[in-house]
Amino acid sequence: MHEMSIVESILGILREEMVKYDGQKLKKVTIKNGQLAGAVSESLKFAWDALIPGGEFDGAELEIIEVPVKVACGECGEVFSPEHARCMPCPKCEALLGHHVLEGKELLIDSIEVDDQQE
Ligand SMILES: [Zn+2]
Repeated sequence: MHEMSIVESILGILREEMVKYDGQKLKKVTIKNGQLAGAVSESLKFAWDALIPGGEFDGAELEIIEVPVKVACGECGEVFSPEHARCMPCPKCEALLGHHVLEGKELLIDSIEVDDQQE
């Protein structure tokens, strides 16, 4: 599963990041999943739930923010959010191709929360 390796690479980034939070526990991770990023949020959650228990981030929660696609028309520059990620006619000039994707391609860690109460 594609999402499994995405979550694994997110965990790799978190491991590096958590070095800064010496001994603290990761509570929650928020990621942004762009509509064009090619990852299914449900599958990301599933992969997270499969990889997290028993590990160093046991109990950490995953929140996924789905980022809709936003493009700028290649013909007239109109910025719009297409209804479908595959077919995106410009609402102004009806151009179908050559749009510049502004948002929706990203898959990244937006923020993390750590538990600063040492038990
Ligand atoms: Zn246009």
